[in-house]
This record gives sequence, C-alpha cells and structure tokens, in this order.
Amino acid sequence: MPTPARVRADACPGVFATHDAADGPLARVRLPGGAVSAVQLRALADCAEACGDGDLHLTSRGNVQLRGVTRPGLAGRLADAGLLPSPSHERVRNVLASPLSGLTGGLADVRGLAAALDAVLCATPELASLPGRFLFAFDDGRGDVAGEGADVCWRATGPSEGTLLLAGGDTGRRVTRADAVSTLIDVALEFLRVRGSAWRVAELDDPAWRGAPVPPVPRVDVQVPVGMLSASAAGVVPRFGQLSAAQARALASCGQALVTPWKSVVLPDAPADVFERLGFGGEPLGTSACIGRPGCAKSRADVRADAVFRPGLRAHFSGCERRCGKPSQSTVDVVAEAGGYRVDGRWVPFEELKGTL
Ligand code: SF4
Repeated sequence: MPTPARVRADACPGVFATHDAADGPLARVRLPGGAVSAVQLRALADCAEACGDGDLHLTSRGNVQLRGVTRPGLAGRLADAGLLPSPSHERVRNVLASPLSGLTGGLADVRGLAAALDAVLCATPELASLPGRFLFAFDDGRGDVAGEGADVCWRATGPSEGTLLLAGGDTGRRVTRADAVSTLIDVALEFLRVRGSAWRVAELDDPAWRGAPVPPVPRVDVQVPVGMLSASAAGVVPRFGQLSAAQARALASCGQALVTPWKSVVLPDAPADVFERLGFGGEPLGTSACIGRPGCAKSRADVRADAVFRPGLRAHFSGCERRCGKPSQSTVDVVAEAGGYRVDGRWVPFEELKGTL
C-alpha cells in the first residue's frame, strides 16, 4: 500500500491543543492503561465542573475528554493531579492494556506494563513527535485489546512470553514479558525513523519494516465487563460513556478505576455494595452513540436522544459517516440522514426506527 500523503497537521486533541467543537473547546486527557486513581478521578470531576461542561466523556482508547472547556485553569489542575507528567508528550501517551488482567482470566498479568512504558515514553524526548494516533497495547492473552487497532502490541502467549503484533498482524517474533516495554519503545523509535508522512504503522509501505505479510490475528468479540466480575472487581457501564461529576466522585469512593476501550470502567477493589452506592452502571448497555447534536456541528441529528435501547441489541448511532467512537466489536451501524437513519446501509425513516431495531 503506498504511503498516503498526509497534508493536514496531526489534529488529535490534547489539553494544550484542544479541538474546536460546536459546544466549545474539547480537551482529551490521556490515561495510559486506562488507569486513574481515586484522587485523580476526583480531580477530573472538579476539572469538569470548574472548566468544562460538568461531565467526563470516556473514549474508545480508554481516555477521558472534557467538553465545553471555556474556562481557564485546566492544565494546572491536571498537572497538580499528576495527569500531565510531560506536557511535551501529552498527546502520544496512548496505551491500552487488558483491563481485567490480574483480576480474572488471561494468560499473563500485564498490570504495570502500561505505566512502565509511559515512564520510558515521557523520558524519551524524540518520542514526543510520534503522531497522536499512534497506539501501544498490552494484551494479556485474551485478545481483548489486541483487536483495538494498536500500531504495536505485545500479546501474551503465556505468563512470561508473548508475541509482537504490528498493525494487528502477528509478526511471529517472540518477546518475553520482561522485554515487552523496551521492544514496543524500540518499534516506536524505528517507526519515527521510517514513517515519512505516515501516521500509523498500517500506512507504511516499506517491506523492510513490515517484513513478510503477517496474518491478521482473529478478532475476539469482546463482552463489555459489567456487574461483579470476581469477589472484588466490578464493571460499570455508564450510558454513552458519560459520567457526571457526581457519578465520577461516586466511582472514586470505590477506589482506583480503569477506563476501558469500551467506554466503561473496571473497579478492581469495589466494595460489595458498589452498585447500590453508584446507583448506575450495573446493567449491560448494547447501544452507544457519538456526541451528535448539539455538541458536533457535523451531526445531522441528536443521536443520543434518538438512540434505541433494548436487551440484546448492540448498535452504534452516529451523526455522520465518520462514526466517531464506534466500538470495534460487531454492532448494528446506525448513521443519521435527513429524516431518518441508515441501518447497516439500509434507509429507515425516523418513525420506523424503533420497529426496525
Ligand atoms: S460521527 Fe460525525 S456527527 Fe458524530 S461526533 Fe463524529 S463527526 Fe460528529
């Protein structure tokens, strides 16, 4: 595949370079491995109220966004909470890790690897110039984050062994757990040397980089973790991945949290009465949606108001063809058009939507 000419600047938003959305500046705060301490979660809730629209918006890379950031002071508050360890690297700290690792299932315990990679990333000045779309991942062998489109992924094949994936394909290169962080960092450095104008590994056309064609790893249809997952771990699924400041503080009362790539939260040390405490998030929700109107000027509809929920339905509602935040697992594709929606490509007038889904 020839390398496409990237003429636009990398526009991935961060805290210092916000995105100009219809509802005001949008700031994205990276949480490597999705990890956020209770103190940091409270700080994020305070930030949402003091600087943004009052809510936290979870992303499909396990990060958090604040919308409508029209008041000053966000960067200082985040830095005080340890959420901006290196301002020059803030947009490149994109790291996924299997959120249930060490809690239930999986072949290896990948806890700590995302934080270790983040520390090396932030201490390596040249990696500040990685594209904001470049994604690292550590999969504990269950295949959950290996299917999330990472540029470079270590996937466990046993407690201390794994394999290197590039752009979702298994290179066949065996890498021990002990070498996983340094190997992913080396791949990122090499990518910077050869990338030209490419933003993602999948865009590279250099055979010396990609080697022989690699087979894509079979996709795993991820079940979003919800409810009590073990004696102490709980999965919480907020509607549309959106948390009010009060909900975020309630989560913080349950200890550390892990934001998943499925816009949900895992609480590793949840109290037994977690769902009574929270009052939300204990049921699986198969429907997701982009922000839609009025937050996005491109949207043709208020997709969150139109979204349909019913048991067993997995659908993603989008305000336009860009399909922001669409889960990677299989879902019914619902895209707004004037007067109705396209459901998996088939035109459905608005009044027939509920009966169709
Ligand atoms: S999918 Fe379209 S309408 Fe929805 S947030 Fe993205 S750009 Fe906006």
